[in-house]
Amino acid sequence: MNQPTTSLAAYAAQDDRTRGRHYLEPSPGYRTEFQRDRDRIVHSTAFRRLVYKTQVFVNHEGDLYRTRLTHSVEVAQIARTIARAMNLNETLTEAICLAHDLGHTPFGHAGQDALNECMREYGGFEHNLQSLRVVEELEERYAEFPGLNLTFEVREGILKHCSLKNAAKLGELGERFIKRQHPSLEAQLANVADEIAYNNHDLDDGLRAGLLTLEELAEVTIFRRHYDSVLKRYPGLSGRRLIHETVRRMINEVVTDLIDTTSAAIAVAEPADIEAVRRLPAMLVGFGSTVAAEHLELKQFLRKNLYRHYRVLRMTTKAHKVVQALFSAFMDKPELMPPEHWVHAQRLQGEAGDAGRARAVADYIAGMTDRFAILEYDRLFDPSERT
Ligand code: MG
Repeated sequence: MNQPTTSLAAYAAQDDRTRGRHYLEPSPGYRTEFQRDRDRIVHSTAFRRLVYKTQVFVNHEGDLYRTRLTHSVEVAQIARTIARAMNLNETLTEAICLAHDLGHTPFGHAGQDALNECMREYGGFEHNLQSLRVVEELEERYAEFPGLNLTFEVREGILKHCSLKNAAKLGELGERFIKRQHPSLEAQLANVADEIAYNNHDLDDGLRAGLLTLEELAEVTIFRRHYDSVLKRYPGLSGRRLIHETVRRMINEVVTDLIDTTSAAIAVAEPADIEAVRRLPAMLVGFGSTVAAEHLELKQFLRKNLYRHYRVLRMTTKAHKVVQALFSAFMDKPELMPPEHWVHAQRLQGEAGDAGRARAVADYIAGMTDRFAILEYDRLFDPSERT
């Protein structure tokens, strides 16, 4: 069920007052504009690819770990709950969350860093911008336009950050970075929900993989507090149920704090509508100072103990190598790419020279799933592999 429009707060994104789409389309009839956007995202090829893209653990390490797809669904679930509780536009929030990682490379952040290094001389690579590129240009689904032709509000939410140099090329979407303005509350919320989701599910996956231990986690304030209170209430509890009971309480605490703190900030700022939200000097969605500090502590703990664990580092080192090797092979010989990508490379080369060719190679690599990238690597460099 979608929220009736009348229950929306005045400062929420209103379904009937979207800034619209690049290409004019008839209104969607029985759906709202943002419902149509969400549906287009779910039906896209890039969305299905997320199932085989790494969050922290590469897909072949085990079936139970989060992937980019389940991550995106968890982000959407957390953000929808908050949006509904605050009378923000739940459907817009969901659409932004489901689309936020569409441009992510294979192999998580290692893949993004490697591709960014490869692209240094050619304008760089940034996954937010790539998500935008996917929905504006790369998806091929409709007869009348490239991409998904999404509303301004969804695209505004996808573009979480952006350099001033890139902002200048993005027209009305880049304006807010130049004017130092903010996006809608729904976009701000999607951004924070992303952090809540990965902090908590990466902790859970890290424990499952045996890369984190309960002893180590005892030094993390928010974990220790909830772990102790669960054990106090259920002294005999152990194993997965103890961990999950702890994590669910951690999420509940930060979500509750976010709703309370943000509601208080809204009550002070009293934005009349979404345009007023965009013009305010500061973002309104955020944690109170205690939870913000604890959330940061958890994030730093994960960086040190999980993302830099030697077993994760081995995987990220391999990922770097695969991305770099694919990039230089395709950059030197774009004709090694499947025909449609070679044609894309020739077109962009014609428009922007080497930087255009590099962008087409980056588009091809960023679109790969983990296992497809490994397969392409083997097909190019392993003489015993079929081409
Ligand atoms: Mg994310």
